[in-house]
Amino acid sequence: GEQGTAKGGKVLLAKPRGYCAGVDRAVQTVEKALELYGAPVYVRKQIVHNKHVVKTLEGLGAIFVDETDDVPEGAIVIFSAHGVAPVVHDKAAERNLKTIDATCPLVTKVHREAVRFAKDDFDILLIGHQGHPEVIGTSGEAPAHIQLVDGPADVSNVTVRDPDKIVWLSQTTLSVDETNETVDALRERFPSLQSPPSDDICYATQNRQTAIREIAARADLVIVVGSRNSSNSVRLVEVAKDYGAKDGRLVDYAEEIDPAWLEGVETVGVSSGASAPDILVRGVLDFLAAHGYDDVEEIESVKEHMVFALPHELRKDLRA
Ligand code: SF4
Repeated sequence: GEQGTAKGGKVLLAKPRGYCAGVDRAVQTVEKALELYGAPVYVRKQIVHNKHVVKTLEGLGAIFVDETDDVPEGAIVIFSAHGVAPVVHDKAAERNLKTIDATCPLVTKVHREAVRFAKDDFDILLIGHQGHPEVIGTSGEAPAHIQLVDGPADVSNVTVRDPDKIVWLSQTTLSVDETNETVDALRERFPSLQSPPSDDICYATQNRQTAIREIAARADLVIVVGSRNSSNSVRLVEVAKDYGAKDGRLVDYAEEIDPAWLEGVETVGVSSGASAPDILVRGVLDFLAAHGYDDVEEIESVKEHMVFALPHELRKDLRA
């Protein structure tokens, strides 16, 4: 096009994008709990890392708190998709809270691996981002055995008791490439480092990265819909840039798109993080169409069929 923002601009829409099975389940858990028990229902931490989702659920009567101490005795509290340390369950029991655990089953899987390797007295190197709630929850399963490795630069800080008895695990929402770099650096220091029994980076994280890689090189600008505190969303922007997108931006809402970003841009790539509802992507597509980008091509790189059953505590009450 002559000026980029002229008519006929192209949009490449990545697929899969947006909601994963774990987020879908967690959001439904809060919705169904509100229907079943009535408002308010308390939720420890953001149920998923998305501003819009949290606001919408607040509108329906969910109250988000930081800790179980902030929940009135005997009330209902839902644990977020990112998982919790066992001590959080203990504290909830002390306050007589009725708990519903919306931890994603793929996070629970990593918790189980941590418990098992700690029981066998391994040192566990948990690759992940300092301060992320998932990492705090997983570490809480075996604090004496787990140390965090936050990227390749952190490898030199690792100390182990027995270099022949260590295993790495990871947060579920990391960059696949960066995690491989970290593992390579760890293995260089500790050649007998063991790997987890199966991938800890979940299918949804991997598939969204694969899909954005497919469109990145053809895009002058990639827009990812997601919140700043959403690890997998932030990774998608990084991956897009690593794989050839000239520019990459993360937005919560279409309104955050600065039209200046579109100057000279012919092709815009669009995707969304695992916690971002598709209605927000539609908002972005409408915005782009209004600015001349009305030729939308969806590029599907992987088919997804994953669905998780609701937490059993909730299913039991739904049946009753
Ligand atoms: Fe579960 Fe992966 Fe979704 Fe996290 S991103 S909730 S681990 S499916």
